[in-house]
Amino acid sequence: MRLRSFSEGLLLPRSSRSEPQPFEHVPAPETLFLPLKQHQGAGCRPLLKKEETVQRGQALGQSSETTIQSPVTGQVVEVDKEFRNLYGTLTTSLTITASGEMEQTKQSPAESAIMDRILHCGVIDSGSAQPLLRKLSKSQECGVRTLIINGLDEFFIFGSRAALLVHYPEQTMEGIQILQHILQPEVTYLAVYEQSLPLLREHAAIPDSVSTIPLRAKHPQHKEPLLVSALTGQEYPLESSPLELGIASFSLETASTLARIIQQNQPNTEKPLTVLDPEPEDQRNLIVPLGTPIKHLLQYLGRNSESVAKVIVGGPLTGTALSSLDYPVTKEMDQIHFQKARDQIRFSSEVCIKCGYCVEVCPMRLMPFLLSGYSSTGLVDMAANYDIFTCIECGCCAYVCPVNIPLVQWIQVGKSRLSTHIRNEAV
Ligand code: SF4
Ligand code: SF4
Repeated sequence: MRLRSFSEGLLLPRSSRSEPQPFEHVPAPETLFLPLKQHQGAGCRPLLKKEETVQRGQALGQSSETTIQSPVTGQVVEVDKEFRNLYGTLTTSLTITASGEMEQTKQSPAESAIMDRILHCGVIDSGSAQPLLRKLSKSQECGVRTLIINGLDEFFIFGSRAALLVHYPEQTMEGIQILQHILQPEVTYLAVYEQSLPLLREHAAIPDSVSTIPLRAKHPQHKEPLLVSALTGQEYPLESSPLELGIASFSLETASTLARIIQQNQPNTEKPLTVLDPEPEDQRNLIVPLGTPIKHLLQYLGRNSESVAKVIVGGPLTGTALSSLDYPVTKEMDQIHFQKARDQIRFSSEVCIKCGYCVEVCPMRLMPFLLSGYSSTGLVDMAANYDIFTCIECGCCAYVCPVNIPLVQWIQVGKSRLSTHIRNEAV
C-alpha cells in the first residue's frame, strides 16, 4: 500500500522499540506552581487568595473559556502576579503546597453537561493550545463534515499519543466518540504512523464510524495543514482554518482527556508527556501533575540538574528553551528534552553557502534562506513577498543547514517585525 504523506520534510528516526513505552505516573511534589494562563487567549482570573485551602480538582482560576484546577489538596502559599510564562507574557501564578490528602471537590449536577464540564475542567486542544470550548463552539457554528483525530507525535514514532492509543485504547476511543457526538461529522479519520497501525488493531476496538489512516513517519506530518492535505487532498490558506472546508482536527490526547473528565469524572490536572532523558539516551512516557517543577521531574528520573545543559519544551526541532528548572509542567507541553552540553547546537555566524538543502526539505515549498536573509537584514517587505507567513516553523530547514544558520529564529523575528509593521500601518 502506498502511504499518504508529502514529498519534502524529514524521515523520523527509527525507534529501537516495537511499541510505545507504558506511562509512568510521576508523584506530585510538595510544592506546585500553577500559572493561570496555559493556553491561547486571555489568562484566567484567580479565584483563591494567599493562605486559602484548596481541594484537588477545585478551580484556582477561570476565564469565560477555560479553567485551571488544582492537582492536589493543600494551601495557596503565594499569588505571584508577575509570573513570566513560556512565551514571555506576564500572568498570575499560584504556588500550592500539597497536604498529602487526595480528597476531591465534588462536581455539582449542572457541571455534568458536556460543554459545562469542558469549561469547568479547562480542557485545551493539545497541540494548538486553544481552549477546547472555543474550538468546539466554532466547529459547531461552521458545521463539520470531516473530523480528524491527530494521533501523530512530533518527531517520535512512539511518543505519548501512540502510548495513549496502545495503553489506554478504550479511553481514547470513548473520547473520539464524544467528539463525534458533539460535532456529528459525516466521516472521522484517525491518523497514526504506519508503525502504530498493527498495535492499534491488536489493542483497540476501533468503532466502525472511525477510519484509521496510516501515514508515513515523517516530520512535520503532525502539523495541521500537512495532515489535512494528506487525509483529504485539500489545502486551505494558512491565515484561515480548515473549518472553511468543513474539516476540524483535534489531537488524540484531547479525545483521551475528554473521556477522562466526562466518563470517569476526573479533574483535568495531569499531563501525558514524552521526555527525552539524556542518560541513558532514552525516551520515556510520563503522566505528570500539572504545576510540577521541571527540577522535580529530573529528580524523578534520577538525574541531577548539573547533568543537564539545556531544557527544551516542545519538539526537538521546534521547541522553546527554558531559562529555569523551576518552571512548571503546563497544559501546553507535549514533550520535554533534556540536553547535555555536547548535544547543544552552536549557531554560527557563517553566511549562507547557497547549497539549497533548506529549499529541498521545506514542506511548505518556501525559500528558507531568503526568508531568513531578508528577516536578518530588516528587509521584511521582501520576506513578505516570499510568503514568510506560510512558514509553519517546523525546523526542517535549520536541521539540514550545513552552516547552522538559525533559520527558524530569523523567520520568527521577521514575522514579528512584519506583524508590528502591519499593525502600525493600520492605526
Ligand atoms: S521555512 Fe518554515 S516551513 Fe519551511 S522548512 Fe523552514 S521552518 Fe519549515
Ligand atoms: S541550507 Fe543553509 S547554507 Fe544551505 S542554502 Fe539553506 S541557509 Fe544557505
